[in-house]
Amino acid sequence: MARKSLIAGNWKMNGTRQSASDLIAALKVLNWETQVLEVAVFPPFHLLSLALAAVSPALIAVGAQDVSAQKPGAFTGEVAAEFLVDVGCQYALVGHSERRQYHREDDALVAAKLRRLLEVGLKPVVCVGELLAEREQGQTFDVVARQLSGALGGLNAEQMGNVALAYEPVWAIGTGKVASPAQAQEVHAFIRQCLMQQWNKSVADGLQVLYGGSVNAANAKDLLAQKDIDGALVGGASLKAQEFAGIIAAGMAVATAGVRV
Ligand code: PEP
Repeated sequence: MARKSLIAGNWKMNGTRQSASDLIAALKVLNWETQVLEVAVFPPFHLLSLALAAVSPALIAVGAQDVSAQKPGAFTGEVAAEFLVDVGCQYALVGHSERRQYHREDDALVAAKLRRLLEVGLKPVVCVGELLAEREQGQTFDVVARQLSGALGGLNAEQMGNVALAYEPVWAIGTGKVASPAQAQEVHAFIRQCLMQQWNKSVADGLQVLYGGSVNAANAKDLLAQKDIDGALVGGASLKAQEFAGIIAAGMAVATAGVRV
């Protein structure tokens, strides 16, 4: 079965109640076919309830940008996976490079967070990707393989069926310097090969792998048309209704054409 595309907007630490309401209202009037394309937004924690009240869940999914590795208890400031379920989230990001970079999250912590999400039935979107220096030193595949096995190692095939991945080269995030479709496809194909080796063909064929890093309305179609790219994790452009609408339209155009290069 063909993998469904997912266009996901990571709002990062941006947004007020007013701007979130405006953005969601602008998304709700767009048209896409939910059988072939899913749209999700990842607002900051304080806007999750508002977003969830504003969307129809069958049309727009809502996810959190992070989750605690701990169960509920004496962990001041943390947000447990159970709380995300309680408000109605469907997804959460883990391992975003901004968490790895600014909060020193390592693969072990990413793995612990991921397992908490699976325990409560939420779908993790696990982010992986290399730094510019690592790419320049020819280490891209090594870094991605290490992050993948660090986060996912030990999961069984059934658990893998509830996971999505996002390949986000760190040098492309928020820089306007998007990976070329060929550069992105090369890593996505490598990721699928790793999934095949560590699990099986059905995991490798079934798992959604999104691309993230400076995706906008102008470059989305060529990226999304790549065979192993199943959607986009969009940061900056997801805060601009028109840009995000353009990315959704590109996703729809590729999904309905049914051909990927
Ligand atoms: C991101 O935050 O995941 C991201 C891809 O950001 P941007 O689209 O702004 O590069």
